[in-house]
Amino acid sequence: MNNTYDVAIIGAGISGSALFYVLTHYTDLKKVVLLEKYSEPATLSSRGNNNSQTIHAGDIETNYTFEKAKKVARSAKMLVSFALFHELQNKSIFEYQKMAIGVGDKEVEFIKKRYEEFKEIYPELEFFSKEDIKEIEPNVIKLADGSDRAENVVGSGMRKSFCAMDFCSVAHHMVEKSVFGEHQAKFNYQVKDIVKQGDGKYTLRANNQEPITASFVLVNAGAHSLLLAQNMGFGLELGCLPVAGSFFFIPGDKLRGKVYTVQNPKLPFAAIHGDPDIIAKGKNRLGPTALSMPKLERFKSGTYLDFFKTSGFGEIATTKIMWDLFSDSEIRNYILRNFLYEVPGIGKKFFIKEAQKIIPSLTLEDLTYAKGFGGIRPQVLDKQQKKLMLGEKKIKSGEGITFNMTPSPGATSCMRNALIDMLEITDYLNANVKMDIIKAELNEESLEWLVD
Ligand SMILES: Cc1cc2nc3c(=O)[nH]c(=O)nc-3n(C[C@H](O)[C@H](O)[C@H](O)COP(=O)(O)OP(=O)(O)OC[C@H]3O[C@@H](n4cnc5c(N)ncnc54)[C@H](O)[C@@H]3O)c2cc1C
Repeated sequence: MNNTYDVAIIGAGISGSALFYVLTHYTDLKKVVLLEKYSEPATLSSRGNNNSQTIHAGDIETNYTFEKAKKVARSAKMLVSFALFHELQNKSIFEYQKMAIGVGDKEVEFIKKRYEEFKEIYPELEFFSKEDIKEIEPNVIKLADGSDRAENVVGSGMRKSFCAMDFCSVAHHMVEKSVFGEHQAKFNYQVKDIVKQGDGKYTLRANNQEPITASFVLVNAGAHSLLLAQNMGFGLELGCLPVAGSFFFIPGDKLRGKVYTVQNPKLPFAAIHGDPDIIAKGKNRLGPTALSMPKLERFKSGTYLDFFKTSGFGEIATTKIMWDLFSDSEIRNYILRNFLYEVPGIGKKFFIKEAQKIIPSLTLEDLTYAKGFGGIRPQVLDKQQKKLMLGEKKIKSGEGITFNMTPSPGATSCMRNALIDMLEITDYLNANVKMDIIKAELNEESLEWLVD
């Protein structure tokens, strides 16, 4: 088959897989190719073991502002609609109760206020008193001797919600459904360089593989996106700080659903939470922790050099960002604590205090470090503003190539991001969008809200 395509997507994580599905089903593009360096989709951040398996709708994520929650809620709804349309219940998407808890008077006030404000976005959101929580999530209230914890505790959440997802299984489903006609997925294809040709098209090369030509290139390569952009001279004002997240297992009968805690607004990463694990059956998970690592892939070797190329390590701007973070004693202690959690043998002795905020009766024997679980968040550094940016980043060239960096909640936002990219690509290539299919599958009448 001729190796010239309308669109080449680099990376088959949940972002690239969603875009592959969207372009092959919701547009009239005839030739789309998905290129992945490993032998199957979603083996890095999007793998079930490596993330928190949560559809972050913004209702229990207390680090989200009202505006962010509104945006995330709609993105989450689209992904849920997609999964239900494809009948992925109990295969890739799971229903649980979920709540954010406030412990102690200050947090109780915070949850009460947040509930009043956020119920406008989530009509099904409920307020839970200490008695309600005792009934629906007893171990959040009960001490080891059967009595109730002394602190004031309240919650806000839902008794049933499609809130857990195996993003890897969804990525596999999306890719399987998208290979038809002249649409192709190529695995073991690690794009090494991208060169713009005189006719405006791009040639993509990989070792020992036929080069590919595409009129539009969308890079969804996770922590590697910035490296590919910078190789072409884009995004030089940015850096990538890889922040690993690990988990601890506890027995599966400790929690019935998701339990989130109140975020310390000073800290750059979400507070730990408890979740029933949908892959390691019969276990609950606590985490994720947050630890900066000098590599782009957590459990694979060989990406240390790529870290040094993209992090801006040693540059004045990056050093200033790190210095500012370390100068704040709360952030410094947080970084130190998260480092200690990783130390074999003693890590759980430090972690248990945080864990007992969720389950006060938890003992050291209940906790096991989840070996081989956890991923890397490619956090973006703005070297001009000398700031750590939270959330996603898109580098648009306006010349037929776009790069996405997708830290959390990138998996929840995969459909939203794919539709935004679809609008750019169809506009650039004069292709058409099939709104009737989008309406049927995603329950969206219009895409105007996606246009800035
Ligand atoms: C600890 C942790 C917990 C998280 N929890 C959640 C959560 O509960 N909910 C949520 O929504 N988000 C969560 N996230 C974030 C979420 O996992 C990511 O946003 C999401 O998986 C990103 O998907 P992606 O497809 O963009 O990137 P990735 O999954 O990293 O995929 C990138 C793909 O590109 C491929 N690739 C890279 N370079 C090349 C190349 N040169 N050529 C070809 N292919 C290439 C890689 O092999 C990979 O398959 C979490 C992240 C972490 C680390």
